[in-house]
Amino acid sequence: MDTIIQISYFVSAVLFILGLKRMSSPVTARDGIVWAGVGMLVATLITFFHPGMHNYLPMTVAIAIGGGLALWSGKKVAMTDMPQMIALYNGMGGGAAGAIAAVELLKGEFPSTSFLALAIAGALIGSISFSGSLVAFAKLQGWARKPLRFPGQQVFNLALLAASIGISIYLIVLGHFSSGLILAFFALALAYGVMMALPIGGADMPVVISLFNALTGLAVAFEGFVLNNAAMIIAGTVVGSAGTLLTQLMAKAMNRSIGSVLFRAFGTAEGGAAEAVTGSMKPIDAADVGVMMAYAERVVIIPGYGMAVAQAQHKIRELSELLIKRGVDVKFAIHPVAGRMPGHMNVLLAEANVPYDLLYDLDEINPAFPQTDVALVIGANDVVNPTARTNPDSPIYGMPILNADLAKNVIVIKRGQGKGFSGVENALFFADNTRMLYGDGQAMTSELIQAVKTL
Ligand code: NDP
Repeated sequence: MDTIIQISYFVSAVLFILGLKRMSSPVTARDGIVWAGVGMLVATLITFFHPGMHNYLPMTVAIAIGGGLALWSGKKVAMTDMPQMIALYNGMGGGAAGAIAAVELLKGEFPSTSFLALAIAGALIGSISFSGSLVAFAKLQGWARKPLRFPGQQVFNLALLAASIGISIYLIVLGHFSSGLILAFFALALAYGVMMALPIGGADMPVVISLFNALTGLAVAFEGFVLNNAAMIIAGTVVGSAGTLLTQLMAKAMNRSIGSVLFRAFGTAEGGAAEAVTGSMKPIDAADVGVMMAYAERVVIIPGYGMAVAQAQHKIRELSELLIKRGVDVKFAIHPVAGRMPGHMNVLLAEANVPYDLLYDLDEINPAFPQTDVALVIGANDVVNPTARTNPDSPIYGMPILNADLAKNVIVIKRGQGKGFSGVENALFFADNTRMLYGDGQAMTSELIQAVKTL
């Protein structure tokens, strides 16, 4: 039986890796999710056949509750709430690793000190990821948008972390422990996760979310060693390394080091209020924009979070097809942190069947803006804010942006005066070459389609 169990874990690990590989392209991503899901099913089912396993009833009840809730929420969740759902699921992974460690610590039967050290390291990292991800969930849900900061916060946070690590070392050296000590250890680790995520705001959130993702993977891998479970070790390592790469990419996209994200403020709502922006916002109607785009040579479409809210991606694809048929050169500019989760815009545009070769990332598209006749910004705000480039006093100064302001004409579709996630005023909307097409993203794009069709 043991051989069958090990082979099953190997098969699930291979399915996880192949699934992840397929997720790297929007064309194969759906399949990738299914492959990884089958891997998880195999790993879960084979657990029932472990020698000495006897808790069948609680296991079945837990799987039914967890699986049922996931099925229900997965079907019900709006596309726009996906980022917070992912933050929540990520937190659950960290929490599960922490819970496994708690059970093992209470049992107190470790073959060697290194197993104990791994269990405690996994518990520490998993608990931080669990509570931190819950705070990230609340921020993305709009429940705790403002970063919480107070004097001496960094010292307080460092003291919390030092205390958690201190107890970890004490537990490892001691080798046996009371439930009170274990409780104190988990309370400190969970508190540190909350305190680490609370001060982070605005444009730094993507970096932190991917960091928690990496931490969850690491915690699961550590607990995999403790349980001698190959699937957990491999899946955890894959998630941990993918999360680490993503964290580096996100930090690079924000022009920030991970240390400065964690220890220095950036993109606060308060900072935004102090921004001095001159000029006025000048409205335009869809008929005029239709003419402008239909007779343009080059158009760059810049989608942002508002396109996701409006679910305007299908209409945008229709508009782009109409323009391409008229001979307009249409490109899509994708900022790495546009939307509310890594790859958000790529997913939406792939869902709407926008050809992948029309999508350009920041470095590729920025040199093209000065030759662009119309930059159409739909529901993007922070990722096109030129103050990040021009105003050293701006809280988002230094964040690489899409240089839409350098296009000959800029059209911005948004509903009103709503700010972006960082809460910083956007100088682009007040620029001389910018016109505002006020309204819901989908409704306005439909009007643009009609306008172009009548020409
Ligand atoms: P922003 O959040 O900066 O701006 C979105 C804009 O969309 C708002 O100004 C809003 O204005 C507009 N909008 C909202 N609903 C609609 C609608 N129905 N129709 C038309 N417009 C609408 O989006 P960006 O994509 O530019 O920037 C993403 C921000 O989110 C960055 O600050 C990033 O750091 C942060 N973030 C990104 C994550 C990621 O992983 N990608 C994760 C967490 C945060 P109005 O209300 O006036 O319509």
